[in-house]
Amino acid sequence: MSSNIPYKTYLSEGEVPCEWYNVRADMKKKPAPLLVPSTLKPCTPKDLAPVFCDDLVRQELDDETAFFPIPAEICDFYRMFRPSPLIRAYFLEKALGTPAKIYYKFEGNNTSGSHKLNSAVAQAYYAKAQGLKGVTTETGAGQWGTALSMACAFFGLDCRVFMVKCSYEQKPFRREVMRTYGASVTPSPSMTTQIGEKINREHPGTTGSLGCAISEAVEAAVSNPGYRYVLGSVLNQVLLHQSIIGLEAQAAFRKLGEKPDVIIGCAGGGSNLGGLIAPFMGEKLRGESDYRFIAVEPASCPSLTRGRYAYDYCDTGRICPLAKMYTLGADFIPSASHAGGLRYHGMSPVLSELYDQGLMEARSVRQTDVFAAAQYFARTEGILPAPESSHAIRAAIDEAIKCRENGEAKTILFGLTGTGYFDMTAYQAFNDHVMGDYVPADEELEASFAKLPEVPAT
Ligand SMILES: *Cc1c(COP(=O)(O)O)cnc(C)c1O
Repeated sequence: MSSNIPYKTYLSEGEVPCEWYNVRADMKKKPAPLLVPSTLKPCTPKDLAPVFCDDLVRQELDDETAFFPIPAEICDFYRMFRPSPLIRAYFLEKALGTPAKIYYKFEGNNTSGSHKLNSAVAQAYYAKAQGLKGVTTETGAGQWGTALSMACAFFGLDCRVFMVKCSYEQKPFRREVMRTYGASVTPSPSMTTQIGEKINREHPGTTGSLGCAISEAVEAAVSNPGYRYVLGSVLNQVLLHQSIIGLEAQAAFRKLGEKPDVIIGCAGGGSNLGGLIAPFMGEKLRGESDYRFIAVEPASCPSLTRGRYAYDYCDTGRICPLAKMYTLGADFIPSASHAGGLRYHGMSPVLSELYDQGLMEARSVRQTDVFAAAQYFARTEGILPAPESSHAIRAAIDEAIKCRENGEAKTILFGLTGTGYFDMTAYQAFNDHVMGDYVPADEELEASFAKLPEVPAT
């Protein structure tokens, strides 16, 4: 290792991207449209206006515009924690004895601790610009709620978070971070919405799920004047905002005079992976360069690797539009794994379509293998990774080991989406050797697929 090689690559002023990139513009076959559940017709701006802010509806439905300028107020906010560093993992390479070069784009360098702030600030900005009073949302593990509460505090917006009840009880510190930024946090299912009351009545004592909290947050938005709903992943608009990760990575690689061969990210709803790969996928779609892309998901919630590509509900209450995506079924409740951010039943329609076209690979990994990688990474590179991010670390290490076995000096890039300080009970379970590896049986998935909605092919 030579000391004149930059360990961290930051961009200088003129190299920082000032536009988001919309990969849909370069896709010949576009992702399938969202459908109105009652009519099964494609959603129009009018259908989505009661739920989302107007500018975000435009971004959601726009499959043609390649670049969206980032408003100055959002750029100013980004400057507080961006550009995020692209880091060469020299110590990990050395420990593995691999000829591969390993880079990671680190998004954990802000108080919310993850990439979710990139989209939270954009969504809060557009809500404010429209003159709204506030936004509602759901949060599972708490990263999204934390990011959104920071963004809302910055723009002076009210923030109402429905937090999955088991997380609300198990992660009191996340809750207090949100309240410190001024958000109100309600355990879901609550008695403050009709859908929450119904779920509580039908399933007494339930500890909630993400799909159920989404239904509550949407209901709270459409029934309170001056409020809209915001979502931290899955949607096209969120992938658009997260493209800042990939654009910075692309600029940093250009600066280094290098190119990644393999790009890896963990996939829950698909926003960090979709954002990281977007500009590189654009090059691939336009035939300019070739890359391998790998989505890594938990074996406990394997939507890409074992799901169906079909129209499905996005929420348990079935009030949101239908999306065509790789899904395990809206009623599928994944086991209580420690990667809360990867427990959504479906996958971004953009990534689903790219995967279906064979432009991206996917693999699933088991929880204990993920934590072994997390621990190895913490000990070699120093950063204590989030359990979600550690799925990408697992795959990056496995690829680097393959390079060692084959004597190939590939360049690997992975997304390190966040830090794991709020996940120490998970690390404790791993350290105490009591962590399990739940993998759903085929019958369990089949039972869930049987409940997928019937949508005639268009
Ligand atoms: C939410 C979250 C994820 C997964 O969400 P995606 O939308 O799939 O990116 C990954 N890592 C961290 C740290 C998260 O908070």
